[in-house]
Amino acid sequence: MEETGTVTRTPRPSETLPAEVRTHLPSDFAEAIDFHGHLCPGLTIGYRAATIAMNRLGVDKGGDEALVGIIENDACGADAFQHVTGCTIGKGNLIYRDYGKQSFLLVRRADGRGIRVAMRHDAFPIDDKYVNTTMRNLGPDAPEAERAAAQQRHHQRAIDLLGLDEARFATISAVEVELPSKARIFSSVPCSVCGEPVMEARLRMRDGEPCCIPCTDRYGRGWEINH
Ligand SMILES: [Zn+2]
Ligand SMILES: [Zn+2]
Repeated sequence: MEETGTVTRTPRPSETLPAEVRTHLPSDFAEAIDFHGHLCPGLTIGYRAATIAMNRLGVDKGGDEALVGIIENDACGADAFQHVTGCTIGKGNLIYRDYGKQSFLLVRRADGRGIRVAMRHDAFPIDDKYVNTTMRNLGPDAPEAERAAAQQRHHQRAIDLLGLDEARFATISAVEVELPSKARIFSSVPCSVCGEPVMEARLRMRDGEPCCIPCTDRYGRGWEINH
């Protein structure tokens, strides 16, 4: 039998945290940290929003598309929300709206009942001092001692958010939502220019031939904001 070399496992991000931080972390939050890559206040916001919405709806991690998530930001919290609720881009049950708001909506597909969790503006105030000292000192260029202190403050803010009273954390409301239909499977057609297969519903025509969006010459009259 051939000898195989010993593979040393890189510790997961949650395992590298100081013990006094780890002790505050529920196990599903530790998993979300591993998925995201680090512990931060933003991740904590998404985790809290997801758990509050799931508790109020009385659901656990969605199976195949039983839940639909609608998030209004693509910041760190989006990762925790996906991990905890099971609503993901790939399954087609996560809708992203680019509103730049710390708001998370979780909907039960069976009856369209949902819970919207919108973080209060005073739950996580970011002042200039935080941005100019703590955030800057988290970067790789900061001296080691300052980086460690910033890291500690950053972690502490995450822990504070974790323990914040629900009512002080967010405005929570029950909503009824009309959901888009479930993800469909379309057949693929090769693009006449690059040859790569393209889902039928995203094809364009160029010189009478099917074509993918990037290969289509843009034609606009100045109204378009997206490609
Ligand atoms: Zn983060
Ligand atoms: Zn193409």
